[in-house]
Amino acid sequence: MRKLLRSLLGRQPRTRRTYEKRADDLFIPFQLECADIRPVSGDRQIASFTHPGVFYDVSLSYQTCSCPDFLHRSDFPANSFSRWCKHLMAALSDEGAFKNIGEWHKAIAEAGHGGPFSAFTVTTERSQVFLLTAGRNPDWINVLGRTRRKGEQAHQASGSIREFGWCISERRWSYGEGPPGARELRRLMVQINEIQYF
Ligand SMILES: [Zn+2]
Repeated sequence: MRKLLRSLLGRQPRTRRTYEKRADDLFIPFQLECADIRPVSGDRQIASFTHPGVFYDVSLSYQTCSCPDFLHRSDFPANSFSRWCKHLMAALSDEGAFKNIGEWHKAIAEAGHGGPFSAFTVTTERSQVFLLTAGRNPDWINVLGRTRRKGEQAHQASGSIREFGWCISERRWSYGEGPPGARELRRLMVQINEIQYF
């Protein structure tokens, strides 16, 4: 796992070595197995989100889909977010499979895309806990964080969980908008220069 962490933090540190070490320790692998999913079964047809008139066959019992994306996911075990393409995610959600899952898992399910292939939580000294997820696009990291309620400081943020996007090559937030505490988080994000999967 340390190998994976190192590759996630592949950029040569621009600051002292001690800082690199600290940064490495701040990234904690996050479980993408969803043990508390409500069992659902049967077959569904789900419309393609990008090609009008195209439908994919989804099996809820076996957690399979006939879409091209699922070919990259079929080796992941059942009940892993990494196995679920957009269509499986939508079908499982429609059937109420996610009713009792944890709030971070719920936020991943509601993000509106296929499940991530890797995920880490990260927290800095003065910030909230963030969840970083990475999918098939090697240039983007999804950053889930809490929004701020009225009067809260960034590290106190207790609002609903929202997803933000970080572009690795351009070292910027999608739409120029990061979560509360983004300035501190940015110092860690700029150290990530590529995502490698093993
Ligand atoms: Zn699919």
